[in-house]
Amino acid sequence: MQRLPRQIGSLQTAELPCLNCPAWGESQVEHYSLAMSAILALVPIRAGVLPSGGAEVVAEAQGRALLVGEGAREAAAALAGIATELRAWETPGFAPGNWAQRLAPVLIDEAVVLLPASPDGRDLAPRVAAALDRTLLAGAMEIRPDRVSTIRYGGRVLAEHLVTAQVVITLQPGVRGVIHPHGPVPEVEFITPAEPADTLADVEILELLPPDVSTMDLSEAPRILGGGAGLDSAERFDQLAQVAALLEASAGATRVITDRGWIGHTRQIGTTGVVVDPRLYIAFGVSGAVQHTAGLGQPDHIISINLDEHCPMMDLADLALVTDANETLQILQQRLLHPQDAQKASQADV
Ligand SMILES: Cc1cc2nc3c(=O)[nH]c(=O)nc-3n(C[C@H](O)[C@H](O)[C@H](O)COP(=O)(O)OP(=O)(O)OC[C@H]3O[C@@H](n4cnc5c(N)ncnc54)[C@H](O)[C@@H]3O)c2cc1C
Repeated sequence: MQRLPRQIGSLQTAELPCLNCPAWGESQVEHYSLAMSAILALVPIRAGVLPSGGAEVVAEAQGRALLVGEGAREAAAALAGIATELRAWETPGFAPGNWAQRLAPVLIDEAVVLLPASPDGRDLAPRVAAALDRTLLAGAMEIRPDRVSTIRYGGRVLAEHLVTAQVVITLQPGVRGVIHPHGPVPEVEFITPAEPADTLADVEILELLPPDVSTMDLSEAPRILGGGAGLDSAERFDQLAQVAALLEASAGATRVITDRGWIGHTRQIGTTGVVVDPRLYIAFGVSGAVQHTAGLGQPDHIISINLDEHCPMMDLADLALVTDANETLQILQQRLLHPQDAQKASQADV
């Protein structure tokens, strides 16, 4: 097997409180200068589709990217205006162990290999780090020239890492955001990495199942119904989850609600919860505090139902309904469960 040289340098980590906590202060540890100038985005693709956070890592890498998987040309089109230097390895299926082995010689000179913390990115990143014999910094919230911040303990702690060695990093989808400027579809240079001398046991995909909206990772959800303190009971959150499922959406909540235990912490949207980036967000009785909206990404459409027409969530909304969120949820459930009744009622109105 080809031996890869070990990196020179060191990596220090310090666990610091969350940025939002009062105890947060500037780190007292010594600063190092880090050559993080050369970042390469490594993006696993499927059927020409970028994973969540795929465009963000390419933007973070100043447009330098290597796509791996099937459908590089279609994926490249989604990176128009973002990618400037694009290579691709067109390869079927998903074989993270084999991919990591074959890609290691291609990636060896990159100071930082950056992947999205999407499901495929999270599978591939540790294998790439192992093949390159590097540290993996998983779940980065921010990448600065000399340090990286990652989330730990379900978002309660922000760990700060002073980096002086070559690393592999995964970036949380939705935390950076990306502006899609108009620009040309980048040229793709196709590569075929050499077969490794040793073959490794690898994962085998038997079947691909569509995600269950009620349990899928919120950060991946394309539609989210979020509930806040304007919803009146734990039972109302069961109803929110049922209505969400009828709309093929996922249920989320504010911290006020997760602190009450009305829904699990994994459903909390915000800076100390999950950072999401849905196409549609419907907020039921959510005021729109900055700690909540900072974790909301950039939804294409926001609908807010609230009694207070002046709250921040209503200002953010494309459609703002000044009405009772509990009653709205009740009616919505009835209409989704019994569409024929809703049709009769609207015919009677005419
Ligand atoms: C360090 C720190 C970290 C935090 N992290 C997070 C986080 O990750 N995520 C998060 O969400 N929050 C977080 N918070 C809390 C955040 O500051 C807000 O307190 C929280 O988001 C507010 O939740 P809410 O909108 O449900 O409640 P409220 O702010 O109380 O708002 C309730 C809303 O419901 C409306 N309402 C009331 N009755 C009705 C009704 N019948 N029909 C319709 N509308 C109604 C009200 O007008 C109001 O707008 C954090 C706070 C701190 C200090």
